[in-house]
Amino acid sequence: MRRGTKLLIGLMGAVAFWFLGVDWVWEVETCPDCHFVRDSAHHRVLGISIINNTNEQPSDLGTLLSDLGVPCEHQNLTHWRKHRWWGFVFCSCPCVNGVYLVTNNGWYEDEVFPYIYQYAEDHPDAGARFWKMIETDDVDGIAQIWSEVVRYGENR
Ligand SMILES: [Zn+2]
Ligand SMILES: [Zn+2]
Repeated sequence: MRRGTKLLIGLMGAVAFWFLGVDWVWEVETCPDCHFVRDSAHHRVLGISIINNTNEQPSDLGTLLSDLGVPCEHQNLTHWRKHRWWGFVFCSCPCVNGVYLVTNNGWYEDEVFPYIYQYAEDHPDAGARFWKMIETDDVDGIAQIWSEVVRYGENR
């Protein structure tokens, strides 16, 4: 084999290794119950994570459940891959664009946070009620208990 050919094969091997063996993946875990989001980015070599950045975003609802004494265990956590950058260069399989974060609008902190513990103490069944509504997708019920909590705060 000519030297040039060997060199070319070696180079192609190195390129193939780079694009197939090295990647950067962005993975997302979301909890459908409380809207918790865990975001992690991995630099990987042969599928093994070398550098890992994880970012957790509790939701207002999740924080509220914790403060009511009935924290979410994230039992229905779903896991999916948002992007995969082959060789850190091109993105495909998958390449999922779009907003996925359920942004917190701050209502929890502003309106309810100052008296939520007191509310939970006065309404020992609130946590269980709240969970029942989450489990049955009872949006109206959640809105109702919510306005109840706000009213409770205003009357104190
Ligand atoms: Zn959860
Ligand atoms: Zn992408």
